[in-house]
Amino acid sequence: MDHFNYKNGRLHAEDVDLAEIAAAVGTPCYVYSTATLTRHFQLFDDALSGMDHLVCFAMKSLSNLAILKLLGDLGAGMDVVSGGEYARARAAGIPGDRIVFSGVGKTREEMAEALQGGIRQFNVESEPELRALSEVADRLGATAPIALRVNPDVDARTHEKIATGRKTDKFGVPLERARDIYALAASLPGIEVIGIDVHIGSQLTSLDPFEQAYTKVAELTHQLREDGHDIRRLDLGGGLGIPYTRGNEAPPLPAEYGALVQRTVGDLGCEIEIEPGRLIAGNAGILMTKLLYVKEESDRRWLIVDGAMNDLIRPAMYGAHHDIVPLNEPAAGVEQQEADIVGPVCESGDTFARSRPMPPLAEGDLLAFRSAGAYAAVMASEYNSRPLVPEVLVRGDQFAVIRARPTIDEMLGRDRLPGWL
Ligand SMILES: *Cc1c(COP(=O)(O)O)cnc(C)c1O
Repeated sequence: MDHFNYKNGRLHAEDVDLAEIAAAVGTPCYVYSTATLTRHFQLFDDALSGMDHLVCFAMKSLSNLAILKLLGDLGAGMDVVSGGEYARARAAGIPGDRIVFSGVGKTREEMAEALQGGIRQFNVESEPELRALSEVADRLGATAPIALRVNPDVDARTHEKIATGRKTDKFGVPLERARDIYALAASLPGIEVIGIDVHIGSQLTSLDPFEQAYTKVAELTHQLREDGHDIRRLDLGGGLGIPYTRGNEAPPLPAEYGALVQRTVGDLGCEIEIEPGRLIAGNAGILMTKLLYVKEESDRRWLIVDGAMNDLIRPAMYGAHHDIVPLNEPAAGVEQQEADIVGPVCESGDTFARSRPMPPLAEGDLLAFRSAGAYAAVMASEYNSRPLVPEVLVRGDQFAVIRARPTIDEMLGRDRLPGWL
């Protein structure tokens, strides 16, 4: 459920007419709903309410400071994957003891920053990383709390580029190596073993792979405790999918996911951490864009919009589907016509939808790409020298620009000419 609905024939974000935002900010632009973000965070928090837990927002999905502050104020922790994200989380007021550091390639500099700034835990993904972290912590006279990310070798049955829990994926250490690496961790200076971490992929639409993975984590918890490790925290990752197509069968709900967590690992006496990104942010945002031209040649029809792959890369990168709806509600039963919806960027990859049935549209009409809250604005670039797409946050009947569109001068001003030119 989200808060982007038609009211009196016009698409609103909560109580704000989106056309009003388009007039004030211009297009393309992203618009997020406070109520949807809040609701989705709360669903996860409630789903785990029977257990000691922390919901850490996977901020790589949407990392604007305003969004982080909003979620942080609700009690969210953050799952960060770079020094930049760590700095963002801190700048948004998230205390270090609510920040988890994930990722296969943390640098020693990033480790040091987090150790000095305060960190809840490092999710360590390999033996060499563990040794590096030990060195850095020891040098600083600090102790790094760690969970080892294990790779349970389950197939999340999701898109190839976002499956992370198979043996052939670059993430974590194989389960059968885990006990040895935990033994090593316990022997290294500057390292404190506190838990186990697992994350098997993103946009999962079935609970089965989670069940397989968490069952293996429960077994490993028992084994590691037998080996003498004080396993007191389980980080179960993120990955719950969202419905990108309205009306299609919906993925499992956070409540069902919570019940699964309770059933598989709930009796281990561990604190539970989860790292949802997409389910919190995905349907909390739209990309608003304007129709520039309707081009018709032979039997094809193109709707050329002012948003492009540099603003929203998911269709080009993952073949992702986004529902695309006009801001003016089409009359019921109106005849639809198929069109390819494309942006202005100079490659054919800049195609958002092919042969998509659309209601009648004219130049200047505004369109919303739904489910564009997660892995959308954060992946935007300035390809084709298109200024970075702005972001707007709505709350009730108010809205605020939370990232302004750079001016052309600001964009050019980042370049430098070397002295010899
Ligand atoms: C990307 C990622 C997540 C979030 O995944 P979602 O599908 O957005 O919920 C959580 N944990 C880790 C380690 C990740 O890499």
